[in-house]
Amino acid sequence: MTERIAGELVRDYLRWRRSSGGAPVHTDAEARGLLRTLSRRMAERSTPWPAPGYLAHMTGDTPVAVTLAYLCALLYNPNNIAPETSPVTTELEYEVADDLCRLVGHAPGTGWAHLCSGAHAAGYEALWIARNLTALAPAAARHPAGRDVLADVSPARLANLPVPFLLDLVERLAARDALDEVRRLRAPVGDAALLVGRTAHYAWTKAADLLGFAEDRVEPVGVDRNHRMDLADLRARVERLIVAGRPIAAVVCTVGTTTEGAVDDLAGVLQLRTACERRFGAGFPIHVDAAYGGYFRTVLDVEDTDAPTLKPEVASALRALPYADSVTVDPHKCGQAPYPAGALVVRDRRALAVVAARDGCFGEPRPDGGLPFAPYTLEGARPGAAAAAVWAAHRLGGLHTGGYGTLLAGCLDTARHLHEAFTVPLGTVAPGPTSPYAPDLAVLNLTPGAPGDARAWSARLRESGLWVSTTRAGGIRLCVMKPLDTRGRRHVEQSLRLT
Ligand SMILES: *Cc1c(COP(=O)(O)O)cnc(C)c1O
Repeated sequence: MTERIAGELVRDYLRWRRSSGGAPVHTDAEARGLLRTLSRRMAERSTPWPAPGYLAHMTGDTPVAVTLAYLCALLYNPNNIAPETSPVTTELEYEVADDLCRLVGHAPGTGWAHLCSGAHAAGYEALWIARNLTALAPAAARHPAGRDVLADVSPARLANLPVPFLLDLVERLAARDALDEVRRLRAPVGDAALLVGRTAHYAWTKAADLLGFAEDRVEPVGVDRNHRMDLADLRARVERLIVAGRPIAAVVCTVGTTTEGAVDDLAGVLQLRTACERRFGAGFPIHVDAAYGGYFRTVLDVEDTDAPTLKPEVASALRALPYADSVTVDPHKCGQAPYPAGALVVRDRRALAVVAARDGCFGEPRPDGGLPFAPYTLEGARPGAAAAAVWAAHRLGGLHTGGYGTLLAGCLDTARHLHEAFTVPLGTVAPGPTSPYAPDLAVLNLTPGAPGDARAWSARLRESGLWVSTTRAGGIRLCVMKPLDTRGRRHVEQSLRLT
């Protein structure tokens, strides 16, 4: 069936090519040889991510229909920079953007989202928006269009005004036709700080460097024994910066850290921000890196009262996602979509004006009055094929508890079983590998039984059909991206014990 569908897609494309007057297609013997060589090389040496024992990376078992959707759109080579270069796939991306806003918890019509190459690009963009937004008030205070609004605000308070105040300021400056001028007055990043947990992805260090943050202004917030951001440390840092009048460009929380799958207490961070607003009249943008964890929101309502699918703290963080100013989600991780597919979801689209390109040529508004992509996205040309694939994945998978929710609940269940199999009662010494903490999501870290090289262990595991990755802490990481049945779990367990 799959082969027949693939043949039909190619036939439709060739017919379209002919009807559009394109040069005739002739795949000659040389091309065939080249493609056969490529195909053989791919089939011989590709990483076997569909295997039940593949637990090394956050690569899901992309459904073949989703891959065909990608191929189908790819044949027409659409570029989602603008509808004129991608009439169909831009429309699909509007639908996917609505899906992603709904996934994060925004009511229809609020929020703004788009696809990008991955969580790196989404993070750069989120930080770019936050940096420009927080730098706006000091600039506006020096401009006639902003001076009256900010007259009563002391210079120290200008550094960290609450986000809703800043968004109103953007709107007011735009209404007075002064936003561009004020943006030009904006100081470079200066001494603005970026606060991220110690277990956050290394992409944040790159983003901070790229956006001009001084190295010592990226503050690594401590983590607790669950690998979650330590709120007491965050509070101390935030209050110190606010009192000193030093700007906080953003606080970045992670929902599903890449190594440990740990979920930061987002609800706690939001409460901290509310407390700062009350006490100091100050705020800061909150971005959530849910590259890995975002799709777990579909698990939230799975009824399973005997064994709650999610820890209450994890459910609470997922429920708080819609209150963050922006969120990264990677459809190419738990969204079952092929690469490249990351996404940025922004809570209030007014924020985008602070990064808008002023002289782009692709800026027509969407038919529904929404914002177009090109003036606001970090990346220019973007693959329409990726939008088609995510669109198909969402429709085939189902962005609800009966769809992705069931799949991901199965992954959580597998991770929990594996954790239990390697849990050692307190005070006893295990002869083999151990799982030191109950995972927040479906990522498990195991420490080897005897001192030794995790890399060598991982290589031995490969021989028994198990693919894992190693951690800097000297253990191994298992990413459960597909549910395993009892037999599958037993195979994993036995391989881990025997090697
Ligand atoms: C995977 C991951 C990233 C990087 O994502 P890319 O899509 O590879 O750019 C960033 N943050 C977190 C939490 C991740 O899990």
